[in-house]
Amino acid sequence: MADDPEFDQQAFTPLKVKCTDSDCETGHHAFSPNRKKKNWAKSYEGECRECGVKLIDWDRVKQRDIRDVEGVFGELQHELIRHVFFHAPFDEKARAEAAKLGRQGLRAKVRPYLEKKIGPAKIWRDGTQTPKEGSAIHFGQHATATCCRKCIEYWHGIPRGHDLTSAELDYCTGLVLAYLEQRMAVLMAQPPGVSKETDLFTPSPKISGETDRLEPTV
Ligand SMILES: [Zn+2]
Ligand SMILES: [Zn+2]
Repeated sequence: MADDPEFDQQAFTPLKVKCTDSDCETGHHAFSPNRKKKNWAKSYEGECRECGVKLIDWDRVKQRDIRDVEGVFGELQHELIRHVFFHAPFDEKARAEAAKLGRQGLRAKVRPYLEKKIGPAKIWRDGTQTPKEGSAIHFGQHATATCCRKCIEYWHGIPRGHDLTSAELDYCTGLVLAYLEQRMAVLMAQPPGVSKETDLFTPSPKISGETDRLEPTV
């Protein structure tokens, strides 16, 4: 229906989606400031850069209270790129990593990984350090706006230019861990290398010499 458009998830796959993408008619916006605009910082109030809507309860989000993670996740999904990463299927490499590390191993990797990638005050080409595939942690970072210091700044109110404090890292880690828990069943459900459901039921090839070999039909 023209007046009730559905969001087209296929049009915005993880590899193609950018943090400036929006599809405002279906309620998926882009809240990053338009840094190309002169004096953007003076007028920027967290509105959608495309349609101008002020939708996010920034006071709530920027409290950085992990006990309100459900509320924060709800706010995050008003932004198109976050929505995509909350719902996109995991790529094969991400599923293989999860299968190899297991739930605990994957969880244990989050904090040291974030510390290395987004912790330092100075990051070479900030905004490009988190790939859009290859690990469920990457998915979690894009979903929760902990992918780079620019996103962390406008979403979570943590300014750039300093090493993240322990408490700030704890919070970012908490968001990614909550994301992983929310999607753990999906992440672990499908073994890597299996792309079609029917493949799960394909019998393994018979070894020659096996006695239960099918007799040719006449
Ligand atoms: Zn918008
Ligand atoms: Zn980012």
